[in-house]
Amino acid sequence: MRTLLARPELSAAFLRRLAAKAALIERDPDKKGAAARIYASSRQAQWFKPVTDALKQMAGPGERCMICSGSESSQVEHFRPKAAFPLMAMVWANFLWICGICNQSKGDRFPPDTEDGELLIDPTNENVWDFFFVDQFGNLTERWRPDLNDIDPRAHITITIFSLDRDALQESRQLRLEDLKEKARDAINLLASGRISAADLRERISRWRLQPFQPDVTDYFLHGPGRLEEPFAELLDRAGR
Ligand SMILES: [Zn+2]
Repeated sequence: MRTLLARPELSAAFLRRLAAKAALIERDPDKKGAAARIYASSRQAQWFKPVTDALKQMAGPGERCMICSGSESSQVEHFRPKAAFPLMAMVWANFLWICGICNQSKGDRFPPDTEDGELLIDPTNENVWDFFFVDQFGNLTERWRPDLNDIDPRAHITITIFSLDRDALQESRQLRLEDLKEKARDAINLLASGRISAADLRERISRWRLQPFQPDVTDYFLHGPGRLEEPFAELLDRAGR
């Protein structure tokens, strides 16, 4: 998870079209069945394309999964699943753009409505770094909550439901962190020896942030709380950021 671009505003005409579909679901005695049917036919239809276009734009370069940041996304996710919340099946604010592994892992689960547990974290609406950190090895980890004397329960259930700590992902984050540290140290040395300018350094940092390789790790260390850790603190200081 990472900071995403703000949710774009869809046109009023398009939002009316979504609302009309939602009204059909609301009027149906079998709301769950209607939600599944109406969403499935809409998803296939050409008119629905502004939703996927806007979600891809929000996901950023490489269209990385909004949940794991690890893979290219291909699926519209209902943050509140349509099986449990049929009236949310056609609501723009309920749509995320995620990969098949995250989607399959979550399924129709949504605590506390479908099972015990805290509310999942919505990366389009919350600062994910209030809940997680990336440790010195690159692993996405739940924050400690001194007031609870426990790890953050929302971070924990989010990691569990989406399998955000799966081995391949953690390994990929570890490699990304090693790579970023190396890039940062090299750039600091180049600047110190006068071979690049502070402006070049800023340009490099911007480029790294656009690379579609575990952008969650990049976001944490170049934009989020990890910017206070070395070598990123020195890097950003020298870049004048
Ligand atoms: Zn994913």
